[in-house]
Amino acid sequence: MHRPDTERPNARNILTSTLDPLPREECGVFAVTGIPNAAELAFLGLYSLQHRGQESAGICAVNGEGVARVRKGIGLVADVFTAEDLNELEGTTAVGHVRYSTTGGSRPQNAQPIVVRYAQGDLAISHNGNLTNAQELRNRLVEEGALFQTTSDSEVIVHLIARSRHDTVEAQIDDALTHLEGAFSLAISVGETVYAAVDSRGFRPLVLGRRGSGYVVTSETCALDIIDAEYVRDVEPGEVLKLEGSEVTKLRSLPPAPQPAPCVFELVYFARPDSRIWGASVDRSRRAFGRQLAREHPAEADCVFAVPDSANSAALGYAEESGIPYELGLLRNHYVGRTFIQPSQADRDFGARMKYNPVREVVEGRRVVVVDDSLVRGTTSTSLVKFLRQAGAREVHFRIASPPVRFPCFYGIDMPSREELVGSSHSVEEIAELIGVETMGYLSLEGMLESVKDFGPFCDACFSGNYTAPLVDVQRGLASLENPPGC
Ligand code: AMP
Repeated sequence: MHRPDTERPNARNILTSTLDPLPREECGVFAVTGIPNAAELAFLGLYSLQHRGQESAGICAVNGEGVARVRKGIGLVADVFTAEDLNELEGTTAVGHVRYSTTGGSRPQNAQPIVVRYAQGDLAISHNGNLTNAQELRNRLVEEGALFQTTSDSEVIVHLIARSRHDTVEAQIDDALTHLEGAFSLAISVGETVYAAVDSRGFRPLVLGRRGSGYVVTSETCALDIIDAEYVRDVEPGEVLKLEGSEVTKLRSLPPAPQPAPCVFELVYFARPDSRIWGASVDRSRRAFGRQLAREHPAEADCVFAVPDSANSAALGYAEESGIPYELGLLRNHYVGRTFIQPSQADRDFGARMKYNPVREVVEGRRVVVVDDSLVRGTTSTSLVKFLRQAGAREVHFRIASPPVRFPCFYGIDMPSREELVGSSHSVEEIAELIGVETMGYLSLEGMLESVKDFGPFCDACFSGNYTAPLVDVQRGLASLENPPGC
């Protein structure tokens, strides 16, 4: 088959694509401008975005001369920054980031924000989402002589801005963004000016807030609440905003996509329930999923409880709709990280034991409905059912407040390869048998989408396989659909 030159593999792109796969990342972004002690606010904002990434954290602050200083490292927000660091990060502008990536991308140099000195001044960038043509762009930039210091797809954006032939910062950013495919919610500072941009489908949330005479952009509204900032509006799909002191200017919009595709998995699992994104309350959305789940999969049971904390709202919805009493049947130890992010299978099982414990007085001799927000590999649920049986549960009815996850995400949610997704290889009956429950029920795709129809349409690729933004690297043979980069 004839392939155009740009698609023909050569030694260089084979090297970069096989030895150095680009990691997929889950992230939270935060930026503030026009407010004193910006780094302290960024610290607080990132603290409340910690659920979006627990591997690394970083803050870059820009002082009155436009000089950027950055502190970033591996670890949780509270561990990465000391009070002294925050004192040294002077200025009224700051850009921050929290990040988690799959194996392969777990390197200190991938921590964000990425900070560089370029022709127009000091530039810092925080990115949430994954680009689907990052490998292709990177190969091209490497061919042209660009030197990459990280394996993160976000660095491609920095090179595109720096190499743009346009002569203003606005035009250079705009030029860079038009080359990108896939998901990006960005906060970029150049000197003391902050730019906020969202891809034309709006995969990942980004909200604009105001505090005094300054502005904030961040992934979720919970990061506005913690610093007492007022929500102004969402940054719309395809929008590029310039925030300078107390001024917000809308720059040219990116070419529109056929339709927006915000990620429904943000509402299912990823975002915090006290946030509002895309006009939707995350808590209310999850309750609506739970209520619909109760209609679709009722159960004869004595009590209903959640796999805490991500399924709390959905379990409340299930209880409200079914009339089955809501209980606190499972306790979660809050001092253990997410089990899902442990590197090996053995560690994951152990992680579930460390994290959850049933309340014997609630479950003993009873028929229980357990609600979880999603099922990925099926490891958490398998362990939980074992614990519940040991605590004397008579019947276990498992309910999932989303459809089976059957496809990996290429737009910024960490999902394992297809073969590890239990929903892609097993029927619901087989999963029920595998995890050892009396009955099992997933929320239907239609039921999920109907529950949040006022805020959609959504990207539901992890459930449906309907990838709205082209998977350019996959199409070019630079990434695999079955085992996406980073796995
Ligand atoms: P699993 O045990 O692999 O089936 O994982 C299911 C659990 O992981 C559920 O309780 C979810 O709340 C949680 N979960 C789902 N997606 C993710 C994700 N992308 N990262 C971390 N945890 C997740």
